[in-house]
Amino acid sequence: MTSSVKPYPDTQIYVDGAWRAGAKTIAVIDPATEAEIGRLSLASEQDLSDAAEAAARAFSAWRKVSPLERSKTMRRAADLLRERADEIAAIMTREQGKPLAEARGETLAGADIIDWFAEEGRRTYGRVVPSRTDAVRQIVTREPVGPVACFTPWNFPLNQAVRKVSAALASGCTVVLKGPEETPASCAALVQVFIDAGVPQGALNLVFGVPAEVSSYLIAHPAIRKISFTGSTPVGKLLAAKAGEHMKRATMELGGHAPAIVFADADIARAAKLLAGAKFRNAGQVCISPTRFLVQDAAYDEFLEHFVAATKTIKVGNGLAEGVQMGPLANDRRLAAMERLVADAREQGAKVLTGGERIGREGYFFAPTVLTDVPLSARIMNEEPFGPLALVSRFSTYEEAIAEANRLPYGLAAYAYTRSSATSAALSEDLETGMLSINHHGLALPEVPFGGVKDSGYGSEGGTEAMEPYLVTKFVTEHR
Ligand code: NAD
Repeated sequence: MTSSVKPYPDTQIYVDGAWRAGAKTIAVIDPATEAEIGRLSLASEQDLSDAAEAAARAFSAWRKVSPLERSKTMRRAADLLRERADEIAAIMTREQGKPLAEARGETLAGADIIDWFAEEGRRTYGRVVPSRTDAVRQIVTREPVGPVACFTPWNFPLNQAVRKVSAALASGCTVVLKGPEETPASCAALVQVFIDAGVPQGALNLVFGVPAEVSSYLIAHPAIRKISFTGSTPVGKLLAAKAGEHMKRATMELGGHAPAIVFADADIARAAKLLAGAKFRNAGQVCISPTRFLVQDAAYDEFLEHFVAATKTIKVGNGLAEGVQMGPLANDRRLAAMERLVADAREQGAKVLTGGERIGREGYFFAPTVLTDVPLSARIMNEEPFGPLALVSRFSTYEEAIAEANRLPYGLAAYAYTRSSATSAALSEDLETGMLSINHHGLALPEVPFGGVKDSGYGSEGGTEAMEPYLVTKFVTEHR
């Protein structure tokens, strides 16, 4: 264990340019030890109102700051994030559980995301539309939509927030961010780098609270013009409905149940190794985590052999400890969910090839698990597991694989392994998914689109598309 780890900080809310103690506090728990490690301040309704109004006041000034100046401020924030990566990673591991290397990687990736949006904000071009008469000029401009309320979850405490905050600030919007209550301090450290980089008073506010109360209040608040949510599909549907009630734009980055299709012509050993790495990253608590492994008959035994072997080598433990590859689940709800889902699958005839149970009695550790022969009626084949469960089944024909991959209402990520370019091309057309990664794990870079279709939500959080939801179009026509 690293002895130089600093004490875990208590977290306050940040409203109108100052940190504040909230009306009451709740405990923050280390998922590896179940010990209370800090306290988190929750916002009162007055704090939420102050935050929304501060964001509205700051908007009138921030929208006028030139994209170049906004970009410079954001780039300073990115540099500060890089400088503080080790410190922030230690905080994140303690509150969320993921191994230090993953936490550090998340923080550095966050800096790249800020840099990307800092530059993309300089390219929010409008256009001139040729008119029907010489005397008329028709101009289309893009403007920031206004103050945005962002709701971000605990699985990537920094990265889920940084995508929304960066796109908003780069486009000239201001933000009220409701961070994750279970993992608040690394999210607060992200806000601090923006403050230290010079984001003006009121332009970025951070609150915590009872999620349903905060979202009901902020979505209805007249100052808020857009919402962006990352979390589960049921909650996303609720918030999208509320946003509709108030005619507010929404971006919804929701759940997934990603198929990973392995064809017999693939490099099977490589596919098994890469997919095991992707499955158990962040203990499977990733919306794009591969979950349904569909393997063609002729490669089934070979794939399973490699995949189970790779799964068994994963070292599980406290994320602060040297060499640990998978930490605990982030909270006791996930642990209970894993136990429930595995028990249900077993009852319905599934075989557990490795794992399948909690590890130890302290901390929310659950073993990396491989299940086969899971019937379609099992809950796990239909619900997002959001944990370290891999479900491996076989298929014979291309059509069978596509039918199973598209069976669920989710459509976030999909993976495929094949040496055939004809198969790759067909998959690109036939899979109902927002993202498809073939023969490698290439999703979630700042410069590429990130988002789902069907019940996985709408709106992109990466690539040039990610600026779109924060901008409105204005058309001006003038007779000279
Ligand atoms: P949950 O559905 O209660 O919460 C998920 C997230 O939504 C949390 O951050 C929570 O604070 C927030 N939330 C919940 N109700 C809300 C509301 N009314 N208004 C605003 N925010 C609200 O469940 P959970 O136990 O925290 O997580 C379990 C499920 O959530 C997982 O199974 C997974 O499907 C989903 N999840 C998805 C992501 C993602 O990256 N898409 C991240 C975390 C959780």
